[in-house]
Amino acid sequence: MDHFQLIDGILHAENVPLPRIAAEIGTPVYVYSRATLERHARVFREALTDAGIADPHIAFAVKANPNLAVLKVLAREGYGADVVSAGEMERALAAGVPPHDVVFSGVGKTADEIIAALKRDIGQFNIESEEEGRELAALAETMGKRADAVLRINPDVDAQTNAKISTGKADNKFGIGLHKAAAIYARLAALPGLNMRGLALHIGSQLLNLDPLETAFGKIGKLVSELRSAGHRISHVDLGGGLGVRYKAGDEPPHPAEYAAMVARVTKDWDVQLMFEPGRVICGNAGVLLTQVIRVKPGAGNLPFVIVDAAMNDLARPALYDAWHDFEAVQPTGERLTGNIVGPVCETGDTFAMAREMDVVAQGDLAIFRTAGAYGATMASTYNSRGLVPEVLVHEDRYAVVAERIEPATILAAEHVPDWLA
Ligand SMILES: *Cc1c(COP(=O)(O)O)cnc(C)c1O
Repeated sequence: MDHFQLIDGILHAENVPLPRIAAEIGTPVYVYSRATLERHARVFREALTDAGIADPHIAFAVKANPNLAVLKVLAREGYGADVVSAGEMERALAAGVPPHDVVFSGVGKTADEIIAALKRDIGQFNIESEEEGRELAALAETMGKRADAVLRINPDVDAQTNAKISTGKADNKFGIGLHKAAAIYARLAALPGLNMRGLALHIGSQLLNLDPLETAFGKIGKLVSELRSAGHRISHVDLGGGLGVRYKAGDEPPHPAEYAAMVARVTKDWDVQLMFEPGRVICGNAGVLLTQVIRVKPGAGNLPFVIVDAAMNDLARPALYDAWHDFEAVQPTGERLTGNIVGPVCETGDTFAMAREMDVVAQGDLAIFRTAGAYGATMASTYNSRGLVPEVLVHEDRYAVVAERIEPATILAAEHVPDWLA
């Protein structure tokens, strides 16, 4: 459920009409709904607690939407942060996430990032390789610390999602294969700079089927027993994120309650603190990308090109993953057309949809791409010397700009011609 609805024929975000935001801030612009973010945060947590998972540790995957105000909303809901860089860590801390609720994931943590995270006394490192674990241990020891850490396992399951966001197959770069895990765990657990306390996994994103997750969790459960038999104290297991959302009619993502019931069933004898890292399911449909039609150009075979002022640099998912985003007029007339939706960038990849049935729109009309709150603004670039897209957060009948548009002139001002070219 989200809070982007028609009121008197005009799309609103909560109680704010989208034409008002377009007029005052300009387009393209991302619009987020605070009430939707809060609702999803609560639904996810309550699903877990209702299923009998006492006190789950939930760390929002910052990469899905790192906007400071969005992080603040989630921090106020008691969410921690799953970060994959020092930059994300600083954002989470700036938003008020307590350091002990920060989990540091990511396959390529640099020594500088590890040191920064140790200085901040973050809650947990999810170690991706023996090499990284040894480096972390050595750095922590030098600083007189002992880092709480878990080992990320690659359970070798096919998450049945887009190959670019699948992370739990043996040939993906993430985690440690099951056959090597016990030996590596034992060697890391012996290092004085580490407090090895459990396991982590994350097999992929936009999962529409719970079976791969259940298979993967089952493998982790076996490893927990095996490690305990070998004398290790396993107190934490981080089950990652990955729950899918509905982008398109017909997508049937599992409800958090179904996910929670499965988790409760599979983990009932584990006796650990369970941790979660949801991203998309919290913020995906809490955001839309508001855009204006520049003009409509006739195309081949009666399919017009609807050229909008948003482009692949603002919302990369269609170009990157062939992703679908629903496209809706802000003031729909009820008439429909079939056409292609494209941005102004000079690449054929800058296509949001081909032969899409959609609301009739004309030059100057406003429209939205739905379900753009996750992996949207955060992937924006300035390709084609376009500005960086701004972000707005709506709360009931008011809104605030939570990320300014960075104008092409600002970007140009950071570039320099050396004297020897002047
Ligand atoms: C991306 C990522 C997540 C979040 O994935 P979603 O599909 O957005 O829930 C969680 N954990 C890790 C380690 C990630 O890389």
